[in-house]
Amino acid sequence: MEHQNNAYMAAHESRSGLGDRQRSLLPQRSAISKGKYTLHDFQILRTLGTGSFGRVHLVRSVHNGRYYAIKVLKKHQVIKMKQIEHTNDERRMLKLVDHPFLIRMWGTFQDSRNLFMVMDYIEGGELFSLLRKSQRFPNPVAKFFAAEVILALEYLHAHDIIYRDLKPENILLDRNGHIKITDFGFAKEVDTVTWTLCGTPDYIAPEVIATKPYNKSVDWWSLGILIFEMLAGYTPFYDTTPMKTYEKILQGKVTYPPFFHPDVVDLLIRLITSDLTRRLGNLQSGAQDVKSHPWFSEVIWEKLLAKDIETPYEPPITAGVGDSSLFDQYPEEHLDYGCQGEDPYGQYFLEF
Ligand code: AMP
Repeated sequence: MEHQNNAYMAAHESRSGLGDRQRSLLPQRSAISKGKYTLHDFQILRTLGTGSFGRVHLVRSVHNGRYYAIKVLKKHQVIKMKQIEHTNDERRMLKLVDHPFLIRMWGTFQDSRNLFMVMDYIEGGELFSLLRKSQRFPNPVAKFFAAEVILALEYLHAHDIIYRDLKPENILLDRNGHIKITDFGFAKEVDTVTWTLCGTPDYIAPEVIATKPYNKSVDWWSLGILIFEMLAGYTPFYDTTPMKTYEKILQGKVTYPPFFHPDVVDLLIRLITSDLTRRLGNLQSGAQDVKSHPWFSEVIWEKLLAKDIETPYEPPITAGVGDSSLFDQYPEEHLDYGCQGEDPYGQYFLEF
């Protein structure tokens, strides 16, 4: 049985906006690369977000002038936090997936200290930021985002991938206001069950806390928490420490605000249940049961998948010019990218 409390901390840290924030310099040394890309292919612009193992930069291709996001993970940090397997899983999964609501990765490379993942730059910022600015979303807005998330989960589960870290910070909005799920750091390919303790305290399912074997069911639980948070502006088991939150999750008592529509309360009761034999999404018809729920009765799923539905919010940005005004500012740090020389950890990341 694999217990990785560090993973909890990692996820929790990114939620609270903590992380290493220091000064910046552009890379000067050359990168070693086995793949299609090297650091020389990109001009590094600014930091879009930070995590526990590194940061995500806005970059510009020196060849085609287009903007991309590069996620950089520090090898020693990945190893210190026992995330080697998760990191290799993330790369493999991102390479595999191809869906309108999932982030697209173009390639990876590494130097002696860092791992690099080149992704599409998603310009509209985090759903998290929009939610905090809006406090809470009206019913149709929450429903729209939830429905796109469901299509993404349905696709992942059909490919035997559990996402395991659904939360508003990991949902980005594209230039038109459609979602893109990012951060596959906890995603896992499974055909049976798994045990690893990971996710973010407020979103974690009771079977994960109780260290029972679990499967795709955990993503449907998190979907319930996400819908609740979008409508209420806070999560149902919020408390001041992760431990208190876990206790509340295990107790399972949810108080639904009176302004929640009865249909969504019915849906959430069926998602936020510890009874895996009754949790919607985890039953015989899988995602179809969630899609057929009355709260989604007006959703035309085929049109939504084709992005043929007007989005409720269009991010106020200029598309295609590297506009990053919807992302928080992070202090830039000195970048040690492109280092050659001794690489004590290279053998752990052969796929990069
Ligand atoms: P991650 O470590 O993958 O969770 O990324 C940390 C943060 O970087 C995210 O919450 C986003 O704010 C930002 N970010 C990650 N990937 C992208 C992307 N492809 N485009 C724009 N911003 C991104």
